[in-house]
Amino acid sequence: MTNRYSYQYYQKRFQSFSEAPCLYCPGNCITSCPTFTQTRNTLYSPLGYTRSLDIAVDKCLKCWRCTFSCPVEYPLSILVERAAERCREKCFGYVIIKDGGKYLVGELEYVNRMKVFSEKVGLGIVALDYVSSLENRDSSVSMEEKDMIGYSPEVSFLLGVPHYTEVIYEFTGNLDITIKLHLPCLLLPRETEILSSLEKTGVTVEEIVKDVCIRIENTGEKLKDLYTLCPRALETGAKLLDDLLIQLIGT
Ligand code: SF4
Ligand code: SF4
Repeated sequence: MTNRYSYQYYQKRFQSFSEAPCLYCPGNCITSCPTFTQTRNTLYSPLGYTRSLDIAVDKCLKCWRCTFSCPVEYPLSILVERAAERCREKCFGYVIIKDGGKYLVGELEYVNRMKVFSEKVGLGIVALDYVSSLENRDSSVSMEEKDMIGYSPEVSFLLGVPHYTEVIYEFTGNLDITIKLHLPCLLLPRETEILSSLEKTGVTVEEIVKDVCIRIENTGEKLKDLYTLCPRALETGAKLLDDLLIQLIGT
């Protein structure tokens, strides 16, 4: 699936890069950039990074926020990854942990969390391991993409499949709860779909926070009262929405 929410889409944009260079427009990207909002220094913003890849390699978080807000979708993250020579080919080894009609797909490190969640919503489980080169690849993901649902923002973005919050209403009754939600970087373009799906399942979002990136220091305090969708944010002490859903589903 090559939709606007997927890494593959931006890879294609990168290939036609010369047709869509940075316009050096007034910089729609700047205020979306966590390293700029933290430092207020344009050197540490997409404008600075497009002028100095050396600085970008060191400082850019490759969070994709600037690309999502850019009129020409300038794929700075790919440029920086390539400059740093650590742009992995996006391929995976995978293990089917549990069979199912549809599969919850997430990184191997989250497999125990996925087991608990999939038990509640009746999904199979696929655990992915990022593989850095084709030579080391165990297998490629060959399941029909329509059967796959991403557990983490990274997996949804890299495989171009729906994040579980976009389809959660298919698996639950009315949960009747109001929450404050943190939207992670890679899910920013999916905000409409996520909010609409949560609403259908009775989850009202009274406040949505989109300007916090967990790669910036001291984000834990900002996430304290929010539910987030990014398992990596657990390291900051944040609460995950899937933990709340697990408690509510079937009660
Ligand atoms: S990266 Fe995009 S938004 Fe930022 S200055 Fe260039 S064209 Fe404008
Ligand atoms: S990828 Fe993130 S950190 Fe890097 S320039 Fe873009 S918005 Fe800033």
